[in-house]
Amino acid sequence: MEFEKELTYQDSNGHLVVLTEHVLAVLEKYRQTRRQDNEAAGILLGEKRGQHIVITDLSEPGKGDLRKRNLVDRRGKHHQQKVDDCFQLSGGTVNYLGEWHTHPEDFPKPSQKDRTSWSVHLKGGTPKIVLIVGIKDFWIEKMNGTSSFKLSFCQ
Ligand SMILES: [Zn+2]
Repeated sequence: MEFEKELTYQDSNGHLVVLTEHVLAVLEKYRQTRRQDNEAAGILLGEKRGQHIVITDLSEPGKGDLRKRNLVDRRGKHHQQKVDDCFQLSGGTVNYLGEWHTHPEDFPKPSQKDRTSWSVHLKGGTPKIVLIVGIKDFWIEKMNGTSSFKLSFCQ
């Protein structure tokens, strides 16, 4: 897939989630298109604009992460460092918004392990975005407390 612009998704209330060009370009690098590609994971960062969410940045795999074909554990300390740096440099407007990881399947779906992990780590506070990068498509969901909603592609 090639992207020239951002992608926009929406929830059932018409609230938008935008993935910027920069974010799409980085995610593209980690699609598991080849047999030897391992899973990748990171944190999603960005801004809330009213009820809308714009994902402007992300952390990438690095030192300390555990990566296998069907497994990823985001253990590297650089992920939290990226969150701290973005918050500082933006004067507090760019925040932690959720997480992303890849799956070696064309049209990805959350595993039971994903669901468990999300419900433990992302249940509190403001809405969070979870994104799975498949080979041909994304799975993107908005979690709000204990409920979650799969977003639909808008443009
Ligand atoms: Zn997964």
